[in-house]
Amino acid sequence: MENSLNTSVQYIKAVGPKRAESFSQIGINNVRDLLFYFPTRYLDRSTLISSIQVLEYVRNGYEGEVTIVGEVISSEVIRYGKKQLFKVKMKDKSGVFECVWFQGIKYFKDSFQTGVFFAVSAKPVVTRYGHIQFVHPDFDKLASNESTDFFNTGKIIPFYRLPKELKAKNIGDFSLRKIINNAVENFADNLEETLPFDLINKYGLPDLVKAVKSIHFPDTIEELNEAKRRFKYEELFFIEILVALRKYFIKVIINGIQFKIKAEPIKKFLNTLPFELTRDQLKVLNEIRNDMEKKSPMNRLLQGDVGSGKTIVALIAMLIAVENGFQAVIMAPTEILANQHFINISRLLKDFNINISLLLGGQQNSKKKNNLKEIELNKADIIIGTHALLEEGVIFNRLGLVVIDEQHRFGVAQRSRLIRKSNSPDVLIMTATPIPRTLSMTVYGDLDVSIIKEMPKDRKTIKTVLRSENKLKEIYQFVIDKSDEGYQTFIVYPLVEDSEKLDLKSAVTYYDNLREGYLKNLNVGLLHGKMKWNEKEEIMKRFAQKEFDVLVSTTVIEVGIDIPDANIIIINEAQRFGLSQLHQLRGRVGRSSQQAYCILVSNIDPKYAEKQFAFNFDFLSASQIEKNKAAIRLNAMIRIESGFELSEIDLKLRGPGDILGTKQSGYPDFKYADLISDTELIITAKEDAFKIINDDPALEKNENKLIRENLAHNYKENLKYSNIA
Ligand code: ADP
Ligand code: MG
Repeated sequence: MENSLNTSVQYIKAVGPKRAESFSQIGINNVRDLLFYFPTRYLDRSTLISSIQVLEYVRNGYEGEVTIVGEVISSEVIRYGKKQLFKVKMKDKSGVFECVWFQGIKYFKDSFQTGVFFAVSAKPVVTRYGHIQFVHPDFDKLASNESTDFFNTGKIIPFYRLPKELKAKNIGDFSLRKIINNAVENFADNLEETLPFDLINKYGLPDLVKAVKSIHFPDTIEELNEAKRRFKYEELFFIEILVALRKYFIKVIINGIQFKIKAEPIKKFLNTLPFELTRDQLKVLNEIRNDMEKKSPMNRLLQGDVGSGKTIVALIAMLIAVENGFQAVIMAPTEILANQHFINISRLLKDFNINISLLLGGQQNSKKKNNLKEIELNKADIIIGTHALLEEGVIFNRLGLVVIDEQHRFGVAQRSRLIRKSNSPDVLIMTATPIPRTLSMTVYGDLDVSIIKEMPKDRKTIKTVLRSENKLKEIYQFVIDKSDEGYQTFIVYPLVEDSEKLDLKSAVTYYDNLREGYLKNLNVGLLHGKMKWNEKEEIMKRFAQKEFDVLVSTTVIEVGIDIPDANIIIINEAQRFGLSQLHQLRGRVGRSSQQAYCILVSNIDPKYAEKQFAFNFDFLSASQIEKNKAAIRLNAMIRIESGFELSEIDLKLRGPGDILGTKQSGYPDFKYADLISDTELIITAKEDAFKIINDDPALEKNENKLIRENLAHNYKENLKYSNIA
């Protein structure tokens, strides 16, 4: 028991009961938890330079950041006028340098005591006296023996996230290092391997004990990288095992519906369309038909940029289901969108004897009751709705096909709730937010993917520009001029804070100002999130019938709205929107053969945005990206029309965590692997995992025992979705 990994952290040297409490507050209870509290950064002598080298770097025009270690020799607060600054003089072996702060002086004064060692990182400047200076640098305190070790033996120093709970108990960078070092020395040897030995051997990975030791206290960078590689591979491998299990379950275990494809109704439907399907639409349609004919249920993701014509394709799939005597349901993320689907689908299917029903949360009770009855009695063939479809009272009679529109708005739990309302229906998931390749191999890996790349022929590219706020007058004049040519305009502004009330107020104020001001000679409508759905519907209908030239709106118009003559969109405070949101908004226009315009209005100077943009993110440091995210997004919008390319940039800007709802994917979060740089490793892990599951789907073989145990221990929650599509 002494050496058990379940030992409370309080028994580790230098911890004790009080500090153990604060560890527990950040989720670290036992020794195992602590061993898996990995460093977030390392200080390594090979990346370090001396103060004399810094001078050289700067003289040679280097503009990046440097890290340099030194000892504080003196510090002073300097007053100038009413202001003050804090200046610290430091030295390393080759010379002297200084750090300067203009804010938070009191705090830095306490930290930078004479004789203490720090590693400081920042972009260096050279003062007019020829001194190297760092303004507001990042810094890490080092113990003096650490810094000697560091210089003498070239040791790599780990840095850990230091939450306030730990700081409150006087745990600083080097006491945490000391505590973790104690844990590693006394306990790491007891860790039990979690990855099959075959795979460890195949890739020459360090075993778990070695890897944990090296990730905390590596002797060399190579050793550290090997440890990282192991944890990344292991993480990806188990995610891919989950993916493979889900896929196996759907493809092999479940008996779905085998639809019969009748050519007649499809032909008839296609003949009613005023256009021909694009080649991509036909290709995708074929893939869907093949799926529907198979015994295993369809589980397909249909990707296509906004306006690429996914809805028509989904509609044909629904038609097939209905012709086979089944019900088909389509779930949309907003009431406006559901309503729009209802109107369009009703129109498109008017020559067919098909009953279409719309189910919304905000519907009148009597109407809703009636709809529910129709659904239950199989009187409704195609059912269109929102989240309201997930409610318990919604009982399908013979549901054969589930279509989910704009999937990133729904989590896996919601999806499976709808799917479970029937016995293994076919599932088609649509998204206009393109999914980067690495994501479709991981958290979307259990879905088959169809892509519509080609846009309908007559589409023109949308002219996108960035304008400062002081150009609004000219912009409104443009709207007025264009309205003479029959153009309609969306004017979008962002949600104000999180307050719906404020939001509403600003919507109304904005609307009143425009209506009585610049746009007084036009008809202006207003649409906002606080309206009831039938009010929204009414407004959209009137806009579609050209009663309004201009629609002032919040982001409620973001998804799917389809008004062919609305070909100008003005997005206010565009810097506040995310990239995929901007792209979605832009997708509201350019849906006809008219030239469309997207005007991004922002407080960011267009010239500045231009300058900050770099296609190649490899040249930008993380902090440069962080500082210029908004400018990069806006510039990306101007330069790039393809949603696929924008999504890759978005992935780089945001990180995969909050993109596309990976958090709701039913798979564990990525802790170690990086969806941008670890593509190769993802491919390898995927191949390995799929091979194992194909060979031994129940993981019964002796050599797979380890995998089974680790799944049961660490991935219980995620396994839940492996047997519910
Ligand atoms: P998505 O759902 O992919 O955003 P939609 O299905 O709403 O796109 O299609 C956008 C518009 O393009 C609709 O008005 C639709 O009728 C039209 N459309 C779809 N396919 C074609 C095509 N092959 N040629 C011309 N127009 C098309
Ligand atoms: Mg759509």
